[in-house]
Amino acid sequence: MSRNDSGNVAIVVAHPGHELMVHHYMEVHRPLYFCLTDGSGGNAQSRLASTSNLLHEVGARPGPIYGRFSDKDVYRLLLQGRVDVFVDLLNELVENLIDADVRIVAGDAMEGFNPGHDVCRALIDSAVAIVEARTGRPLQNYEFAVHNAPAMDSEGALIRLELDDDAFARKIDAAMAYREIREDVQDALDRFGRQAFAVECLRPSSMRGMLEQFETTPPSYESIGESRVSEGRRLRGKTIELGWWPSLGQPAQPAVPAQLFPIAANRRCASSHTEAPSPSSFFTTRLYAARAASRTP
Ligand SMILES: [Zn+2]
Repeated sequence: MSRNDSGNVAIVVAHPGHELMVHHYMEVHRPLYFCLTDGSGGNAQSRLASTSNLLHEVGARPGPIYGRFSDKDVYRLLLQGRVDVFVDLLNELVENLIDADVRIVAGDAMEGFNPGHDVCRALIDSAVAIVEARTGRPLQNYEFAVHNAPAMDSEGALIRLELDDDAFARKIDAAMAYREIREDVQDALDRFGRQAFAVECLRPSSMRGMLEQFETTPPSYESIGESRVSEGRRLRGKTIELGWWPSLGQPAQPAVPAQLFPIAANRRCASSHTEAPSPSSFFTTRLYAARAASRTP
């Protein structure tokens, strides 16, 4: 990998700080970087400044979607089922990727751990499909683990970057300098060991498989909500029920601009770009059911 092809790489993540997982990949490619929220979590404090420093250090640059929402806003929008907001965001991302002539996109994997991460992955896969259809050019679309072990399924990785000692030291330094997530970094180091972060694995998107899996095994943010209901604890804002897995393949509700989740069976066939995606080749149904509110004890 050289820096010559660096102009056409984009990183798209839900939360500032995820980029640490691909720190060396960013050093190599100097990508255009997008993040959906400001990383404020339950606090009022944005952590964008730390990511701005990191981007500067690795030579990457922030894209037009950079901390667009607070995390609270995202959860509220999800609970309210505001598909329109996410479709607008999708269309904006599509325009940005086309404008920047992006050819490689890497971002959060759908892990069933955090709804923001999963929405980010859905946005990426949808945006890639739409950009491919509009431009007639195939894009490379990669995911990386955010919560799960970074080298998990590394045999399925299409890009596997082994960090040398210097690159690894820079990565750890950058992680430790990112003070708002120092606890998360330490937790990840404890769970997986330092060496797990000495390799960066980019895999093809596994969203489709994850969606199938969620039909039988709900993502943890749903099951956590379930168990809290049974414990009789208040859970408003904790249970984000994604109401769309049971609805896979069903026609979109007319009121919903249905482009968010590309599930067309053959959409990965990048050889044929003669047809633009029609609404029927995508689906969005009850994207985020706001059932959490009704379950609040
Ligand atoms: Zn996150």
